[in-house]
Amino acid sequence: MKTLKCPICGSEPHYEKSPMWHGSHGYHDCYRHDFTCPTCKLLESGADDVSRVEEKTSYDQAIKNWNDKVKKVSKFLKNKEKDKVEEQKMIDRFQWIQTPDGTYILIDTWNDKVVEGAPTYTTSSTNSSDSLKKWGHTDDTKRN
Ligand SMILES: [Zn+2]
Repeated sequence: MKTLKCPICGSEPHYEKSPMWHGSHGYHDCYRHDFTCPTCKLLESGADDVSRVEEKTSYDQAIKNWNDKVKKVSKFLKNKEKDKVEEQKMIDRFQWIQTPDGTYILIDTWNDKVVEGAPTYTTSSTNSSDSLKKWGHTDDTKRN
């Protein structure tokens, strides 16, 4: 099975295998298989072999989990029609936010930052958006 590239920045994922025990603690002889994007560090997925005997099975599962997440997020990013965005504003840690000029930008909800390199798109209708308040843009005028 081949791993798909990161849907945000297009990088090949970085693979890491880590033991799930430390001394006598944890799950002895069990490993975690993790895939993370080494460039934007926004996407990660993996699997462990705690409930699986075969290490290869859990490794394959980790690839499948990563690929599933890549497919899910890239489908989300391609939902450029307004009604589809309204339907699903959020996936994983990512959220579409509409700016006052009608442009949708992608926010990383874990640190409330704009995802650099992610697609944006503009709709013709400009609705006022409550979600912008959370992001802090509309508060600027009050401070002056
Ligand atoms: Zn990436």
